[in-house]
Amino acid sequence: MKILLFGKNGQVGWELQRSLAPLGEVVALDRHSKDFCGDLADLSGIRETVQRIRPDAIVNAAAYTAVDKAESDSATAHTINAEAPGVLAEAADAAGAWLLHYSTDYVFDGSGSKPWEEADPTGPLSVYGRTKLEGEQRIAARCARHLILRTSWVYAARGGNFAKTMLRLAAERDRLTVINDQFGAPTGADLLADVTAHMLRSALAGPAARLDGTYHVAAAGETTWHGYAQFVLDCAARNGALLKATPGTVDPVPTSAFPTPAVRPHNSRMSTARLEQSFGFQLPVWQQGVARMLAEIGDTLASPR
Ligand code: NDP
Repeated sequence: MKILLFGKNGQVGWELQRSLAPLGEVVALDRHSKDFCGDLADLSGIRETVQRIRPDAIVNAAAYTAVDKAESDSATAHTINAEAPGVLAEAADAAGAWLLHYSTDYVFDGSGSKPWEEADPTGPLSVYGRTKLEGEQRIAARCARHLILRTSWVYAARGGNFAKTMLRLAAERDRLTVINDQFGAPTGADLLADVTAHMLRSALAGPAARLDGTYHVAAAGETTWHGYAQFVLDCAARNGALLKATPGTVDPVPTSAFPTPAVRPHNSRMSTARLEQSFGFQLPVWQQGVARMLAEIGDTLASPR
């Protein structure tokens, strides 16, 4: 079994290097890789990479994820999020390989309060959302054996994340203000990577027609960024962190208090029923993964800055 991984050093890509390892040989690339082209901006380069490696599965964790920057850099976002997945889909199809790709809750317009299902009408509000949606469409049209995993609010212990920012601010200030009118579920890159490995294993073992398509993958439950911040401060205080701000001094504010170039959806709740029924998963509540990530980064935060 040979798996070709693009975007090996992103939040999800890093965790995939771990979770895919037991499935077979993993050729993991980033945009600077030397032996094979892993730069999604080089469309002929990535096509050639697939032709040379002839993988059984391609996992694409690379993407243009700078949501606000995409508003003024739409050509690059389009190449990486829409055109490159289309090229990977054609190359995967020609090689008889599976293509597993990630997409986002930002393909929806964020209206209502019902968890989005896979077949619900899309309506992206931003360049990022539009380019990610086009990437999905190109894959679905060009590669029979595809799995598209739409997820939301991804975090990882490695690198910067929302929880670390909240902890840093809470150490410096008595009060914080955090948005409380966007709803979703923080989802760990480690959970996504583990789910990916299980899905690929099932896909590679079973008849393609039964499993291919789009799935929503997010931790169970829901919160707002405000609720997320309160949970982080509460966990950190219980773990002995010395913070000036407490869960009670996190002030809720509407999205309009923090204007950004890209419009974000208010409702990012995602129904994972299709995933759970098709693959037999039971996804953990979001608090479980966030608490674990906080425990993992605890030592780093305790050391002098
Ligand atoms: P990251 O931003 O952590 O990782 C994206 C990776 O893509 C980075 O390693 C980046 O490399 C790489 N990349 C960017 N441009 C190129 C390029 N031209 N060629 C090759 N690699 C490139 O994102 P996540 O791991 O969080 O995201 C994984 C997937 O999940 C993406 O498809 C994303 O759209 C989706 N998603 C993410 C969410 C989130 O909250 N983060 C929410 C919903 C969906 P470099 O560091 O060199 O720029």
